[in-house]
Amino acid sequence: MYAAASLVPVVLLGLVLFAGYRTEANNHGLARARTEASLLATTAVAPQLGGVSLDKGLPEADVAEMTAISHRIIDEGRLLRFRLRNTRGEVVFSEDGSGFGGEIEDEVLDAARGEVVSLLTRVNSDVGDNGPKGVRAVEVYMPMYAANKQILGVLEVYVPYEPIAADISAGLNRLALQLSIGLGVLYVVLTLVSFSLTRRLRREGRHNHFLARHDPLTSLPNRVLFRQSAEEAVAAAVKDNRRCAVAVIDLDRFKEVNDTLGHVNGDALLVELALRVKEHAADRFFVARLGGDEFGVIIPDIDDAAAGDELWELRRVLEQDVQVSGLPLSVQASIGFAIAQEDGDDADELIQYADVAMYHAKKNHLGVARYDRSQDRYDAAKLALVTELRQAIEQDQLVLHFQPKIATDSGGVIAVEALVRWQHPVAGLMPPDAFLPVAEQTDLIDPLTTWVLNAALHQLRTWGDDAAGLAMAVNISARSLIRNDFADEVLTALREADVAPERLLLEITETALVADPQRAARILARLYREGVRVSIDDFGKGQTSLGYLSQLALYELKIDKSFVLDREDPTNAAIISSVIQLGHNLGLQVVAEGVETTETFAWLCAAGCDVAQGFLFARPMPAAAMSEWLRDRAALIPSQPAPLVN
Ligand code: C2E
Ligand code: CA
Ligand code: CA
Repeated sequence: MYAAASLVPVVLLGLVLFAGYRTEANNHGLARARTEASLLATTAVAPQLGGVSLDKGLPEADVAEMTAISHRIIDEGRLLRFRLRNTRGEVVFSEDGSGFGGEIEDEVLDAARGEVVSLLTRVNSDVGDNGPKGVRAVEVYMPMYAANKQILGVLEVYVPYEPIAADISAGLNRLALQLSIGLGVLYVVLTLVSFSLTRRLRREGRHNHFLARHDPLTSLPNRVLFRQSAEEAVAAAVKDNRRCAVAVIDLDRFKEVNDTLGHVNGDALLVELALRVKEHAADRFFVARLGGDEFGVIIPDIDDAAAGDELWELRRVLEQDVQVSGLPLSVQASIGFAIAQEDGDDADELIQYADVAMYHAKKNHLGVARYDRSQDRYDAAKLALVTELRQAIEQDQLVLHFQPKIATDSGGVIAVEALVRWQHPVAGLMPPDAFLPVAEQTDLIDPLTTWVLNAALHQLRTWGDDAAGLAMAVNISARSLIRNDFADEVLTALREADVAPERLLLEITETALVADPQRAARILARLYREGVRVSIDDFGKGQTSLGYLSQLALYELKIDKSFVLDREDPTNAAIISSVIQLGHNLGLQVVAEGVETTETFAWLCAAGCDVAQGFLFARPMPAAAMSEWLRDRAALIPSQPAPLVN
């Protein structure tokens, strides 16, 4: 195609060059004839005339000599005709006696005025010529001059054209040959170049096509190809009335691996997992990397139950240890899936459903979850909430309320707990339960924790004397606690607010420790060394082993309010009592939250509980109300503040 196209300019170039040369060669032929005539006029004829004008005819004395000269030249074959004309154009001498008294043509008069005229013609084709037309010749009219530049007359000759033509055509043949060879080579080179270019372009095109549809790290198909394959698989399933599963896999805690071990190792982990999934999938199903730690799977011709089995199997494959930089790592995955025809027959819709199911699986630690409509309502709302909450943190729409913690022996306040709320521009003041779960499922929990930590410490500073000797209790989510730089962030916040580490109490739920016990223990130990205190919140709900608990660097146990609120229940009462004992045995301060009645308070005091918190003393309240409350309380119970360190 390209080769054929490049033939056109090459041939055109050849034709143009050839035509140009032919014109050039013809001109050259005429010039050669003129030179011949001019030579003759100046060397042979004019000297013979001896400066005498031909207007009175050729002198009788010169006729014999001129006849001899002309015959000799014609015999030699240099000329075909030889005539002399006067300045009026009339023939005064003719080698063969022809042409006398004939019509005078314009070119003759031009020559008589000093112009050299030459034209290609045939013998006997002039007006007045008799006889059959002869061979081709160049007819030249050459003015002849005297020494004083006066025109004596005109020499008219026919120079034979055949030898010139032979020269020209030999030249043209040579040129044609050279052109053919040169252009042929050019054509071959062009063809080769265009061929190799075409091949390279095609190769690059194929490569680009691959890149656009594959993930560069794992070489797995990417989201684009996943969508396309899902569309095809779903369309095929619908056509043949079969089922087909679309699944989304998300690795749990991959971000932590990335943060702790670095991107290089994170990448290595992904590559290894991708390889594993690809091997496991073989050609039974389609696997893609959707981005980050998210993978997509399409299993054709499979029903609900079989898809579940297959995905559980895949999850087991993913969970096996991976060696990264010599360390055995194990990751868990949350998998959600939807079934074509049953859940919908649009690929995009099914992918979205699988995504929803995956979040559901992750949130509820289900491992693998099949999509069901009830997961969805929550999710659409959740998505909107995430966006709004992100802005809320940036725009300082969060506020802290504070609730005091009271020492049971003195009745003095020993700490206040910061509890976050969202001052939503439309919905009003939103409780933490309405947005914390969403924050914890996304990265939003990190900026939220940072915000709360800084705001709480800053508030403690602002209260100044009203809060003298009080500790600030701040709730920390599991995800934030095991973040790599958490301890550093806490210390920085303390330094910036200029608050002593001993005045910060971090409340961490028992479940937070279960997520990654070793890591949590390490971070708590570091905080302990720096002087920061830690409380286990909602204690009694989880199943922390006592052995583990005893190893942690803790300060306080906070009994979950569900036991306290329902203290009448003998089981709960027994639990509260044993937690108090356990805490004291471990050398910890024990707090009861959810104290609403004086009876409960009295009971807790009798049971030996150290600290109480609840609506009985104060509901959580804004900062200004809190400082006022603290002042009133100080006046009421002058014995406080209780000593901070016991
Ligand atoms: P929590 O840490 O167990 O906080 C105590 C919760 O019990 C608070 O609810 C408080 O208002 C409520 N409460 C206090 N006294 C009583 C009482 O006598 N009776 C009853 N029925 N309830 C009482 P709140 O403020 O809605 O907070 C709910 C949870 O949200 C907190 O439970 C905590 O886990 C979480 N949270 C609050 N603020 C933050 C925060 O800044 N960061 C994190 N990560 N979590 C927070
Ligand atoms: Ca708390
Ligand atoms: Ca609690």
